[in-house]
Amino acid sequence: MMKYSYSRINIIDDKFYVFRDDLYPFLGGGNKGRKMDAIAKDIFLKNTNALVTTGGIQSNHCRAVAIFAAQYKMKCTLVLHGSKTEFEKQSGNAKIMRLSGAEIVFVEEANQIGKAMDEAMRLYENNGFKPYYIWGGGHTLEGGLAYIDAVKELKEYCAENNWTPDFIFHASGTGSTQSGILAGLDKYGFKNTKLIGISVGRKSEPAAKIVDEFYKELCSHYNIDCSNRESIVLDDYLMGGYGQYNSELKELSLNSIKEYGFTLDTCYTGKAFYGMLDYIKKNKLEEKNILFWHTGGIFNFLAE
Ligand SMILES: *Cc1c(COP(=O)(O)O)cnc(C)c1O
Repeated sequence: MMKYSYSRINIIDDKFYVFRDDLYPFLGGGNKGRKMDAIAKDIFLKNTNALVTTGGIQSNHCRAVAIFAAQYKMKCTLVLHGSKTEFEKQSGNAKIMRLSGAEIVFVEEANQIGKAMDEAMRLYENNGFKPYYIWGGGHTLEGGLAYIDAVKELKEYCAENNWTPDFIFHASGTGSTQSGILAGLDKYGFKNTKLIGISVGRKSEPAAKIVDEFYKELCSHYNIDCSNRESIVLDDYLMGGYGQYNSELKELSLNSIKEYGFTLDTCYTGKAFYGMLDYIKKNKLEEKNILFWHTGGIFNFLAE
């Protein structure tokens, strides 16, 4: 396994580090690239040759799946929830999906996604292919495992630099990144590190419940001694919901390259970074060791 964790954690000052999953080197990067690489192992194991998944018209997950399918010459159907007209004119992930060779199916309502995915699976089967179904966002056991393993990279980095985070902040959506990190923190002995997910769309209570259940499922599936950490998902920074933002967040995003040397988009990492800064201030955590886990979103940034 190539060692690249050093370049992906950059130090802003000796109390504040960033885990650079935005620079994850494969499938266009980000947490969806990392998850898809883990899911790929199962795809190869099951010897399938067509992929079916779903997401929005700027989905990082669908982009990672589409690139993977192109690299391995597999068939691919993306069931996109959103406007076809917007998809056809937007840049970022939409452009990559358009040019990837994947079959694109649009649904207008979220409740039509399941049926459209089943239909795509059936079509492949009827045409002699062996299709593989991937839950939206890569929210699968393998996707969670990707983040258990990522904590090992963090562990190595902490050991070499004699630094341990007191708090880790990140953007939380489907919850599998958060559940995976929680299980990883248990597996690799980060006893005093607290993980705080900033919700990008869901309310705290249902989001924390999903994270908690999946965290426990991961521990049980991968034989990890679960310490029953609290699953914390903050919904104080929703700004109206998924994809919504206020003028302060927009400004933070536009200034991110100049200020920090990496991109913060308004949908995911900008929201998390904004929430983290506010949380640090409100809870007087300035003297704590903080890690911002940058989950990606460069293509979202470029499409905005
Ligand atoms: C999907 C995504 C998230 C959320 O990850 P989950 O594992 O779904 O919680 C955060 N940041 C970016 C850039 C994403 O694409």
